[in-house]
Amino acid sequence: MAKKQFKAESKRLLDLMINSIYTNKEIFLRELISNASDAIDKLYFRSLTDKKLSDVKQSDLKINIIRNKDNRTLTIKDNGIGMTEDELEKNLGTIAQSGTLKFKNELINEENGNTEDKMSLIGQFGVGFYSCFMVADEVTVISKSVDSDKAFKWVSEGADGYTISEAEKDDRGTEIILKLKEDSEDDKYSRYLEEYTIDNLIKKYSDYIRYPILMDCDKRVPIEKKEGEDNKETEYKVIQEEKTLNSMTPFWKKDKKTITDDEYKNFYMQKFFDFNEPLKWIHTKVEGQYSYSMLLYIPSNVPYDYYSKDFKKGLQLYSNGVLIMEHCEDLLPDYLAFVKGLVDSEDLSLNISREILQQDKQLRVIAKNIESKILSEFANMLENDRIRYERLFKSFGMPLKIGAYDGYGINKDKLKDLLLFHSSFEKEIDNPENKDEKIKTDYATIKEYISRMKEEQKDIYYASSESIDKIKMMPQVENVIDKGYEVLFLDESVDEFVLQIMENYDGKKFINVSANNIDLDTDEEKEKLKKANEECKDLFGFMKESLGSDTIKEVRFTHRLKNHPVCLSSEGVLSVEMQKVLNAMPDQANQNVKAQTILEINENHPIAVKLKSLFKEGNKDEIKKYSKVLLDSAKLIEGLPIDNPTELSSIICELMVK
Ligand code: ADP
Repeated sequence: MAKKQFKAESKRLLDLMINSIYTNKEIFLRELISNASDAIDKLYFRSLTDKKLSDVKQSDLKINIIRNKDNRTLTIKDNGIGMTEDELEKNLGTIAQSGTLKFKNELINEENGNTEDKMSLIGQFGVGFYSCFMVADEVTVISKSVDSDKAFKWVSEGADGYTISEAEKDDRGTEIILKLKEDSEDDKYSRYLEEYTIDNLIKKYSDYIRYPILMDCDKRVPIEKKEGEDNKETEYKVIQEEKTLNSMTPFWKKDKKTITDDEYKNFYMQKFFDFNEPLKWIHTKVEGQYSYSMLLYIPSNVPYDYYSKDFKKGLQLYSNGVLIMEHCEDLLPDYLAFVKGLVDSEDLSLNISREILQQDKQLRVIAKNIESKILSEFANMLENDRIRYERLFKSFGMPLKIGAYDGYGINKDKLKDLLLFHSSFEKEIDNPENKDEKIKTDYATIKEYISRMKEEQKDIYYASSESIDKIKMMPQVENVIDKGYEVLFLDESVDEFVLQIMENYDGKKFINVSANNIDLDTDEEKEKLKKANEECKDLFGFMKESLGSDTIKEVRFTHRLKNHPVCLSSEGVLSVEMQKVLNAMPDQANQNVKAQTILEINENHPIAVKLKSLFKEGNKDEIKKYSKVLLDSAKLIEGLPIDNPTELSSIICELMVK
């Protein structure tokens, strides 16, 4: 029979498995059992709608483990859906599915890292069928599909390929026969033929599998005494009796108190294919109108595909332990799409698609509860586990902020106290992991900001630009901080839009330090400024005109710049930063929106004196050049593009050589 070759990718993974020195080779059993359980799920599902399968009874569904010491084989047998000839070819000749594929993507293609490192990560992934080559040097799969009258046999001794041929098998399902490797030094593989080893492995990895995992186990039974032997000591013989190895309780249905942190972490990493431990988990049972358990996880890191269209939001949905939907989107609002986990309800019907309408209401109620549960956990974390919350916010602050903004702010009240913004106020908090260490943070909630407001302060001040460093360099910011006020530093493009949609917090308005309605001066200062502006009305009128009247709305003096000569400020709802963000969006409708900008000149800077004297001399040409340089430098400070850099450079040089 001609040997077929594995597809290239599969071969590499297979090589890795065959030559594995990985110490946790034992996970092969978990993988095969999990495949067997999936195959039974598939059969059961189909039997709900397929009349041909009306003979399928839930109570008959099972997995058998058969040990044969004489042949040195371990067999895992299920009575699930089975595989046709084509499926054997397709599924076992190539890396097919989710877990395996992901493993391949993350590890096999990565050039760095040695094999040992790679192998040490295997245990955290569903690496699938091929993992059996870590312990077996020959694997035989005999399968009869529900869709075929014939059975087929797939045999492989590893990397040099496989054969498929017709086989004898009466009942439907799949049998995987592993011929265990021989090891000349110590026969470590033969332990997989010991009852003790298998029993332990099933308890460790596959205890929650819903179908019974059966195995013949040794049982000591007394030998019946013959007549006249009453006084003889009882003797025993060992017989084989079939025993169920697993408790069949899903992990999430176990009592919380009996689950260790490590178990929670491992469950997450294996089930949701994450290399990193979760940041937090929420495990609760809800009894009420609808009863359900939920086990939710917040990842530590943003999933690599989170912002791509490939990312699938949703929780796994179980009906009494049976998976009925892999990604139930309706259970999570978009802004919590990063949450992973599952919901298991006894009240849901298995055949959800048929009854989706009735279940709609139930799902909505559950979804609402999930949302409020997560948000209350977040609030709790913010209060009691600040460092962890800040870590969460660093990863997922963006979706939360977008959540507050989206839908015209429909969720803003739920989210407003969970949002963190950088601020000019830095504080130290205790590091819960190291009592002697303090961690600096500049994150503030709006509530915290308000609690620190000065008595006479009416508004909440903020500044925005694309980075904290840039914000700190903004001349307007320095002035407000110098006056003793805290300033929120908005460095993400969505930030300012979020504040705008909130409008105010407890009646306190959000004021951009670059906006012209910021009111920090005393009455006396205001009077002085007003006078200075009136005196120079003509000068400013000329400057505005020379710059082109639609370029800026006004030119005027300001007191808000300590030592700097100029800045731009804005009037109205749209700030200069927002203008930048909107113009950068692909959406045509937003293009060319313009903030109403004002060129502000520091009245106390020598440039003010210079401008005044040039105007007095009637040196309009020179004022034109000055205006240009001042406007362009204000634009540069704001990070805005300038219209004609060549012209600017010529003017500057011209003024320099004077
Ligand atoms: P994964 O389990 O991640 O899909 P595997 O390599 O373990 O990847 O398995 C590949 C495919 O082979 C499975 O998706 C399934 O379709 C099929 N398969 C494996 N084991 C069985 C089985 N016992 N019964 C039926 N199909 C199986």
